[in-house]
Amino acid sequence: MTDLDALDRDDPLAAFPERFDLPSGVVYLDGNSLGPLPRATRPAVDALLAGAWGRDLIASWEGNGWMAAPLRVGEAIGRLIGAETGSVIAGDSTSINLFKALAAALALRPGRTEIAVVADDFPTDHYIAGGIAGLLGRGHRLRAGAPGPETAVVLAGHVDFRTGRMRPMVALTAEAHAVGALAVWDLSHSTGAVPLALAAAGADFAVGCGYKFLNGGPGAPGYLYVAPRHQGVVPALAGWMGHAAPFAFASGYAPAQGIARFGVGTPPILGLAALEVGVGLALAADMAALREKSLRMSTIFMEGAAALGGFGCLTPADPDARGSQVCLTHPEAAAIMGRLAALGVVGDFRPPDILRFGITPLTLRYRDIGRALACLAQARGE
Ligand SMILES: *Cc1c(COP(=O)(O)O)cnc(C)c1O
Repeated sequence: MTDLDALDRDDPLAAFPERFDLPSGVVYLDGNSLGPLPRATRPAVDALLAGAWGRDLIASWEGNGWMAAPLRVGEAIGRLIGAETGSVIAGDSTSINLFKALAAALALRPGRTEIAVVADDFPTDHYIAGGIAGLLGRGHRLRAGAPGPETAVVLAGHVDFRTGRMRPMVALTAEAHAVGALAVWDLSHSTGAVPLALAAAGADFAVGCGYKFLNGGPGAPGYLYVAPRHQGVVPALAGWMGHAAPFAFASGYAPAQGIARFGVGTPPILGLAALEVGVGLALAADMAALREKSLRMSTIFMEGAAALGGFGCLTPADPDARGSQVCLTHPEAAAIMGRLAALGVVGDFRPPDILRFGITPLTLRYRDIGRALACLAQARGE
């Protein structure tokens, strides 16, 4: 058995778990679904309540940087995902940002009617894509599988939420471009978990979540990436916060320059303040060290589960095809997850038979993985 204490001693990211407020006795393997509370979040939000909202009131829009928050936080997220400067805006849910990205991509490919989706991707992605196809109503439809000559846009989750498989962004983006289509990536299970290089990959659009690996809190704002070459498109959700001069209250719509035009309504300032703390923590960690720790932890967990016997594993053994979670299968998955929770190990059950464990290197110690394996052995029963 690997010496987990030694790995913890040598871990270059060892200081990070202490920066999170986790209940004692809990091994939290659900940070890919709702990241835990960073200790710095409470004072940051308290300061905003007391000093900005509580004292400066409406003057805070300019004086305390509220107007600038979506682009400021977007810029920080952009550094995590390898985006060009000025190509990410934070705000709105992932679902809403998907609508914005798909609508923009479809507008850039008039005459093409297909949205190519990956079977089994996160449901909201397919629901939103289907909703847009119905709204356009000009023969637009979803297509499963590889793109073809009628495909306007390829929509794919980068790390599969059910299996933890990471899709090859460079190759799939090139495949979309080869048939004249655009690529929209959903980074919900990638940002803050795996190295990303959107600009280098040639990605056209991307969206993602703030409350998973970015630890921005429940319902944290998501984000939208638009490659600079596509930022001239007129947004379908043409809101006043994407207007060139919102406070001119003009009757006609004139989009702001650049990524700012993808703002829609009044930004969620409290949510952005919490998200900014989580993003800052992720930026403070060395991404190469984070990836190494993630893979080492998931390998230990997968090998440990295999040694127990009785579990299937959906997560690829090949580290290059693995995100930052481990998904086991077992006919009694739901009952086992319940017993794990009673032992203080939190993961989640995904029907019909999946036990999903998020591997969050910023918030976990190697010995947590050891404890989770010991509890898994116990929870599995005889
Ligand atoms: C979590 C997740 C979402 C969630 O979307 P919301 O609009 O924030 O509810 C979307 N897509 C993927 C791939 C996810 O994993």
